[in-house]
Amino acid sequence: MPSLMKRVLSFRLSILLLICSLNAAPLFADSVTTHERTVTKVSEGIYVIRHPDAPDSFPQGNTTVIIGEREVLVVDSCLLPSSTKEDIKQIRQWTNKPVRYLVNTHWHFDHTNGNALYAEAFPGLSVIAQVETQKMIQSFNPTAITSYSNRTERFKRYLETGKDGDGNPISDAFRKDLTNSLNGIDSVVAEFKNLTPLAPNVTFDHELSVNLGNREVQIRFLGRGNTAGDTVIFLPKEKIVIVGDLLDHPVPYFYGGFPLELAATLQRIAQLDAQTIIPGHGDIQHDKTYLTQVIGLVDEVVAVVLKEVNTTPGRKLEEVQQAVPKAVDLAAWRQKFAGNDQENRDNFDASVESLIKVAYKQAMVR
Ligand SMILES: [Zn+2]
Repeated sequence: MPSLMKRVLSFRLSILLLICSLNAAPLFADSVTTHERTVTKVSEGIYVIRHPDAPDSFPQGNTTVIIGEREVLVVDSCLLPSSTKEDIKQIRQWTNKPVRYLVNTHWHFDHTNGNALYAEAFPGLSVIAQVETQKMIQSFNPTAITSYSNRTERFKRYLETGKDGDGNPISDAFRKDLTNSLNGIDSVVAEFKNLTPLAPNVTFDHELSVNLGNREVQIRFLGRGNTAGDTVIFLPKEKIVIVGDLLDHPVPYFYGGFPLELAATLQRIAQLDAQTIIPGHGDIQHDKTYLTQVIGLVDEVVAVVLKEVNTTPGRKLEEVQQAVPKAVDLAAWRQKFAGNDQENRDNFDASVESLIKVAYKQAMVR
């Protein structure tokens, strides 16, 4: 399991590294690459912090801060300790109430690396996660962080041999991204040297509610999708839902997890009485249009994968990969998600390619 996860993560990074095109026309407001830190107040006492990508282009998850009358709850602690420290400083400017709860939406370390810094800054903090998420943070993340520096050697090898980890020739765009990543990786590795991984100390299976003082927060597991323990945080009164990487904007991340269950889980989110949806990465959504769009894409692609696998025993991945574009208008979906932004378009293609692959794998082991 851990080695599979490693492959998934390293594959995900490889894909993210495909992102490149500084001269692309930004017709869409949002981009898969984030250059600067932004803070958005979504309601009285509720803020979303969007972080710039790390110097090696690794994306950092969004952080949401929810301030009640008595105490504060934070959702996700991001990737770089330097960013977490900035967030904590910012929270202290907003309020003198203590952060009492930190929730990890899932185990990927771009959402959990700052856990220990919160615990250090706010004694008595409870770090909360769904039980499967807690297990992964505890078992997988410490090694992933200490072995992060191996990327340097691996990326150098790709550049020198002109081939990726699977032996496929690397494209010019990938070459450029590897170079960009190598230019920034040392500072990320240096930050990780002083990082203490901290696993959640409070777990739940399906639902946990906390009241921060005149502010109810429901922490829920609505099904698998991006990971085994995907968690959504719902504020019924404020009609806000925070969904982690079950939803990412402007292009979904389909680089692992459980694609056959993803649409149903997203449907359960759609059924919540929410007006504001905070994704794991990218822009805040003020209605369910984008969520519905992602459900539509996943439904169409997964239906073809399942049909291929179920009707023809022994169906090969290559055959499924050929069948999907014949049955699904991927060009139209690409346009819907990415517009004319080349960077987003490339990312969409890589993400859907992975969706087909991961859905096929999940279908074959059922
Ligand atoms: Zn993420």
